[in-house]
Amino acid sequence: MTDESSEIVKWLGVHLRVPRQWEIVRHSLGLEKGSLVFVDRRRETLRLYWTSCERAPDLNRMLDDMRGKASLEFSGAKLAELRGHPGWQGFIREVSDGERVIHAAQFDSRTLRLIEVIVSESCDASEGKSLRARLLGNIEVAAKAEQARHFWAFGLNVTVPPGFRLFKTDVKPADVTFEFEQLSEERARPSGASAVVRRLGMAAAWAPAEKLRLVKQHAPGLSLADVEVTDQLGHHSSFAKGKETKPRILNWLGLGRRGEALLWHCEPTNAIYSVVTSYPKRTPVLAREFSMTCCEADHE
Ligand SMILES: [Zn+2]
Repeated sequence: MTDESSEIVKWLGVHLRVPRQWEIVRHSLGLEKGSLVFVDRRRETLRLYWTSCERAPDLNRMLDDMRGKASLEFSGAKLAELRGHPGWQGFIREVSDGERVIHAAQFDSRTLRLIEVIVSESCDASEGKSLRARLLGNIEVAAKAEQARHFWAFGLNVTVPPGFRLFKTDVKPADVTFEFEQLSEERARPSGASAVVRRLGMAAAWAPAEKLRLVKQHAPGLSLADVEVTDQLGHHSSFAKGKETKPRILNWLGLGRRGEALLWHCEPTNAIYSVVTSYPKRTPVLAREFSMTCCEADHE
C-alpha cells in the first residue's frame, strides 16, 4: 500500500490505513463498544471492533473460544496460528484456495481498549500475507474513544477542540455531515454548544456564487451579519457570525444562542466544506477551532 493506493481512516481513537477502494459500509458511534465494516467492490473485507475494558482481557482464552466456534461452524475448517504481526494474536481460517478469514485481536493497555478484526482475503497466500502485514501494522489505538479528536472518514477530515464528542453522522453519497457536542468540564453532560462539520461534493453543479446565500444555505438556523471573505487552506472562504433565529423571545431577552459559519469551496475536490457552530452567548465556540483538510487530505 503506497500513499496513492491507500487511505487513512481515523474513527473514535482508532487509526488505520486501508486500500483506497475499500469503503466503510457500516460505522458506529458507540464509545464503549462499536465497529467499522469495510467492503471492496465485491465483498466484505474488514470488520473492526472496539471494546472498552476495565482490565486486560484473557486474549488466549478469547481466541481459543473463537477457534472452537470456527471449527464447529465450519466443520473441517483448516485453522492456522496467526504469526509475525507484533501486538496481534489470532488465527487464520483457510476457506478455499485463495480465500482466507483472519481473526486477530490486540489489547491496548494504555487506553484499555480491545481491538478485534476480521479480515477476509481473496488472493494468493503471499499477497494475502503482505496485505495483512500492512493492514495490521497500521492499526493504531491513538486514544480512548471519548477522548478522540481526529475524525477522518467518508472524505471528511476534521480535528475537533478538546471536550467535543461525535454524536451524530449523516453519510450520503457526496454529502457527509458529522455533528459534535461539547461536554461540560466534568465531561458528564452536554454544555449546550455544538458544531456541524460538512463536506458537500459536486459543488460546481449547484453552489450559488453569491457568498451570503451560500453561507445561509449551510447555516439555516442562523441570522447572519455580514459575510467576511478570508482564506482557508489556500481557498477563498466565507465567514460569518450570527444569532440563532429561534426562539425569538430569547433573542429579544438577550438570551439567544449564537453561532459561527465558516465555509469554502475547494476546486480540486469539487466540494464545499463547512463548519457551523452553535453556542450559548457567554461561551463562544469558534468555527476555526475545528481544523479541517480538503485537497491536502492525504498528507498527515
Ligand atoms: Zn482544498
